[in-house]
Amino acid sequence: MYHIDIVGMRKRRNLKIVIAIIIVSIILALCSIGYIIHNRKVAMLASTNIVVEDTDNIIAEEQKNTHENIDTNNKEEEIKEEKVENNDNSSDKNNKGDDSNKDESQESNTDPVVSEEKNKNKEFIDKINNIYNGEEGKRVFLTFDDGPSESVTPKILDILDKYDIKATFFVLGCNAKSHPDIVKRAYDSGHYIANHGYSHKYSKIYKNTSTVLEEYNKTEDAIRVAIGNPEYSSNLFRFPGGAYGGPYEKIKKKARKELNKQGIAYLDWSALTYDAEGADTKEEILCNLKETMNGWNNVVILMHDAPDKEITYKTLEDVIKYLEKNGYDFKNIYDLI
Ligand SMILES: [Zn+2]
Repeated sequence: MYHIDIVGMRKRRNLKIVIAIIIVSIILALCSIGYIIHNRKVAMLASTNIVVEDTDNIIAEEQKNTHENIDTNNKEEEIKEEKVENNDNSSDKNNKGDDSNKDESQESNTDPVVSEEKNKNKEFIDKINNIYNGEEGKRVFLTFDDGPSESVTPKILDILDKYDIKATFFVLGCNAKSHPDIVKRAYDSGHYIANHGYSHKYSKIYKNTSTVLEEYNKTEDAIRVAIGNPEYSSNLFRFPGGAYGGPYEKIKKKARKELNKQGIAYLDWSALTYDAEGADTKEEILCNLKETMNGWNNVVILMHDAPDKEITYKTLEDVIKYLEKNGYDFKNIYDLI
């Protein structure tokens, strides 16, 4: 019995050892499997992240490229806009007519010749704008509009020659074209040839800003042809009917701005004889002049040399004598520049 027990105990102990070994082996196996699975998961996750990162990089790269494309497109747009602006500017130049001198001076231009011309134009506009601010003595500018005409202008030129006075003629382009010889005579005598537009038809010239500039340019061309100087630019415009007010004020306002922008001055008058408004005696002319001069020291007088303005040359000597007697020096635009 005792012997049987010992054998049974040994068998049971051996069995326990085997079972323990099996359990340990199973545990070890399970651990190994778990480790492998874990590593695989880590590896899979890592590869997934790489893919994600790669995708992100691709997206980022694409976005970068897109931005670069957008930037490039923007730059192209900017270049296009600059080109359009430059074209506008050059067409403005061709139109020869715009705005304030401030705008002009603010524009940077690397071309010294163009810059110098702009500065000269700005100075000229300033001088015209300050024509009534001469500080010393008394000065008067005789100005004649609407010519030249065969019947009146040569007689006016004769009188001005006689008194050695230089005046300013605001010619109409259509008349300059018809009587280039008279324009040339005035120019050669030292009178300043300025611009009064081409047609003098308000509905035509004041149709819009462009039509004002078109008439200005057409008249400049007619003056150049008449005087035989292709380089000539008067840079001085007198609005038919005056630069301000009236039913076309809106157009005039834009045109004033546009003219200045293009380096062109405009000038009205401060006194007049009413030779175009029916004054027909020497007394009336002188009375109107005295009243409108109002005792000022710097005066720009408006008169006319259109074909029917005989009263103008018939009273011109009296006007000159009256002004001389009152201590005025006769000036023209050349004296300002
Ligand atoms: Zn006129």
